[in-house]
Amino acid sequence: MVDIVSESLSRILNDLDQAGVKLIAISKTKPVSAILEGYEKGHKVFGENRVQELVQKQQQLPDDIEWHMVGHLQTNKVKLIAPFINYIHSVDSLKLLKAINQEASKNDRIINCLLQIYIAEEATKYGLSFEEANSLLLTSEFKALHNIKIVGLMGMATFTDNSDQIRREFHALKEFYDKLGQTEFKDNPEFKELSMGMSGDYKIAIEEGSTMVRIGSLIFGERN
Ligand SMILES: *Cc1c(COP(=O)(O)O)cnc(C)c1O
Repeated sequence: MVDIVSESLSRILNDLDQAGVKLIAISKTKPVSAILEGYEKGHKVFGENRVQELVQKQQQLPDDIEWHMVGHLQTNKVKLIAPFINYIHSVDSLKLLKAINQEASKNDRIINCLLQIYIAEEATKYGLSFEEANSLLLTSEFKALHNIKIVGLMGMATFTDNSDQIRREFHALKEFYDKLGQTEFKDNPEFKELSMGMSGDYKIAIEEGSTMVRIGSLIFGERN
């Protein structure tokens, strides 16, 4: 495993720096030693998709890592990550947002959240439709939450070789993001992140306006 992580990391970071895009290194299923290898090269932003694994790794690793939760999150597990999580990309209901707000408040924190928007053709992906996201943002219940900050949107394109389709899906998300930026978030400069792009499609995502890419296998190698 020696240096593989840091080599691929440098290569990707080079691409991204030029585009001004932030890299979330998705370390799910990979050992703490692989994360440390990236950390020692100076990369401190990592993401996981399962609460249990995230908590275990966080406890074993340096405190100055910025942790991103990118996988589906159950309301009853929010309390486990609320003390330390920096960004939650997978907010897909008002119920979850309220749970995050409550746990953030208990920890005297404000947690950065992205609304996960459903843009793929697959029936298996989580997320809100554009309409659902719109209505959520208009509720008085949402407006009463002060320990969460909506900093942007996240979306996953269909898993396909059809790059036109991937581009179309990312494009639709960017349009929706821009529209929200001109309406609900007009006076909110902290709404500025568009989390889209993974190992297979991050270049298209960047061309379509992504500000954060979530890359796993391209850095850490294939998962079993
Ligand atoms: C696993 C995962 C990624 C990274 O996937 P790769 O194809 O390995 O880059 C990105 N986002 C989410 C939500 C994931 O679960």
